Amino acid sequence: MNYQALYRTFRSQRFDEIIGQKAISITLKQAILQGKASHAYLFTGPRGTGKTSVARIFAKALNCHHLQDGEPCNQCEMCIAITEDRLEDVLEIDAASNNGVDEIRNLRDTVKYSPVLADYKIYIIDEVHMLSTNAFNALLKILEEPPANVVFILATTEVHKVLPTIISRTQRFNFKRIGIKDIVYHLKDILQKLKIKFEEKALYTIARVAEGSMRDALSILDQAISFTEDTLTSEDTMMITGSLTRDMMDRYMLAVYEKNVEKSLKVLGTILEQGKEAKRFLEDMILYNRDLLMYRYAAQLVTEIRGVLTDTFKQLSIKLCSEDIYTYIKLLNEAQQEIRLSNLTNVYLEVVTVKLATSSQASSIIKTWENDHKGLESLREELSQLQNIVKNLQKGKDIFSENRLVNNNSSKSKADYKNPVAQIHQVLLSATKTHLTTLKKVWPDLLNSLDARCKAMMKASEPVAANDGQMVVAYDYDILAIKASKDETLKQVVRNNLNKMIGFAPDLVIVTNSQWPKLRRAFIKENRKKLQLDKVDMTQNIVAKDYKSFNKDADIIDKAVNLFGKDMVKVR
Ligand SMILES: [Zn+2]
Repeated sequence: MNYQALYRTFRSQRFDEIIGQKAISITLKQAILQGKASHAYLFTGPRGTGKTSVARIFAKALNCHHLQDGEPCNQCEMCIAITEDRLEDVLEIDAASNNGVDEIRNLRDTVKYSPVLADYKIYIIDEVHMLSTNAFNALLKILEEPPANVVFILATTEVHKVLPTIISRTQRFNFKRIGIKDIVYHLKDILQKLKIKFEEKALYTIARVAEGSMRDALSILDQAISFTEDTLTSEDTMMITGSLTRDMMDRYMLAVYEKNVEKSLKVLGTILEQGKEAKRFLEDMILYNRDLLMYRYAAQLVTEIRGVLTDTFKQLSIKLCSEDIYTYIKLLNEAQQEIRLSNLTNVYLEVVTVKLATSSQASSIIKTWENDHKGLESLREELSQLQNIVKNLQKGKDIFSENRLVNNNSSKSKADYKNPVAQIHQVLLSATKTHLTTLKKVWPDLLNSLDARCKAMMKASEPVAANDGQMVVAYDYDILAIKASKDETLKQVVRNNLNKMIGFAPDLVIVTNSQWPKLRRAFIKENRKKLQLDKVDMTQNIVAKDYKSFNKDADIIDKAVNLFGKDMVKVR
């Protein structure tokens, strides 16, 4: 059986099935009923909000002879042919993939012929802003004198890139991001149709991450289902989307509430350890705090947004005063601004954690004094803890290293990924620091260029070595490593996108983070003779210009420097 993506299988086929764009659906339906279709439309809005789905339904409604209250019947030959994308009078052009003039010139030649089978010839031009200037001008010419019985539906995610002269010749509809409740409702409906059991919380996680895009929501759901054994759980979706698990958010905020700096930092360490991105962490924590605040006044509303609430969440909401929560949100928000400008994201997270856990120390001192005779003692303790942490931060010491070891040793995974040792060694033999640096730099852009499914697969990964043909990418989770290593589409997309961005297209070789240090050590050991290095010292630096004066065989040193970077190689 051919696998079809959920968003294709469950694509809306009627106006009233369109989710979250009620006003637009009604207006278009009215236009059909009154026979007042315009000859050019412009659909703008974020991706996955229903632009092309509505365009297709509109194309059907214009041509269906069995309209039902403005809706296409979806049963006549015309409707079916359009649904199956085989009616030559309805043409879909993706300007993102062919932004050439040819396509539009060709369109200009054929546009004057009457439709073959349908009443209206319909051109749906997706991502119209991608058209080249020449193509835009050609399109403008057509729109200036539109032939009869031709309807243009232009769709774009970036309307500011569309020429004003084109915009002014169209009837414009702005598609909104789809609300969380609407997305959850639709996902629920699909899972029920597929007879898949689910935890409701899981759907909220997906909806939140999809940021108003139904297509993204469905492609995350697709991915989540492929992991699901029996029931789609919240933990599954959290892992896939890289969201913080509820338990971790609870633990973090509880430690902050207890003003236990060390514990807060430890929880943060665990969170980062699991490959969470700084940006997402801050977003999740801001939302968490907003919900804490809202829960005091509108419990029902928060339950609707977050799904089932934990006891810790409810208790925190009662125990924390509003001022504290305002302060937390303010501090988190500041950290959000700071990480935008910095590469040292984890340092900012550590700093904000210290700030959060000490933010209203004054009020806590008084409380502690009143309630507890050991108040001064515990304050002293807290102060010295804090001083130590700040000292370590200043020294740039990794305060999570201990934690990391413990976690690695105790981590149990359901399935183990088999690291392709030979292949990894092969990459390392000709790996260069330049290739790796290039990849690391472009990695966030690469993630952004991927659709939600591929992004989910690549999220908890980072490049650790590369040459011009291959790259070793380390994964935090065995299960994702297994999935990604088998996913040929993913590999192809990653190669293509990288090629566009940096001009070379390395193959994906996957390693797990837990095994990578061992494998790298083994490689160095094995190849030490080849490289003739006395020692590769990972902690000490040498001045770059000095290194050649030490060596007898510059080639070998060059190779080592290329491989690990000059600041990693020490020549004796
Ligand atoms: Zn029909």
